[in-house]
Amino acid sequence: MAIPITPRFCVSCGGPLVSTKGFNPGGAPYACTACGLPVYEDPKVAAAVVVETSEGVLLLRRAQRDQAHGKWILPGGHVDRGEVVPEAAMREVAEETGLRVELTSLLGVYSYNGYPWVLVVYTATANGGRLQSSPEALEMQAFAPQELPWDELGYESTAHALRDYLSQLS
Ligand SMILES: [Zn+2]
Repeated sequence: MAIPITPRFCVSCGGPLVSTKGFNPGGAPYACTACGLPVYEDPKVAAAVVVETSEGVLLLRRAQRDQAHGKWILPGGHVDRGEVVPEAAMREVAEETGLRVELTSLLGVYSYNGYPWVLVVYTATANGGRLQSSPEALEMQAFAPQELPWDELGYESTAHALRDYLSQLS
């Protein structure tokens, strides 16, 4: 899903932007007509975590009303600018599940043609905290590898990350 939004105004001076697509290959796709600032459409970095528990992998049923509403996803979220990616991953797990986790490996980096996100996925084990739901999840459940809900996963990347995780186990 590409972002259906075209930036129109300069973030620096508020001047109108002009598309420069095709004029400067490899450069910024927009430029400000007032101050000349080049404007990029950078991907958004997100981090997610495969949390291994004694019962299996912890998944959340997404509460937010978007295309993944009600589907199972990994705990995770956006990385803030200036934030260290593994720390963002641990922060998101704590916010969404109440668990403190220790990251054990970098599972993979997932990106797709036309998608505005780059997703970094880690594996982790819980080392503190207490499992408690947040408003972002309708419910939480740990799934054994043979019980993962493949038909009800929120995103293509959720399935790809879980497949990579399972192939690590074998
Ligand atoms: Zn400007």
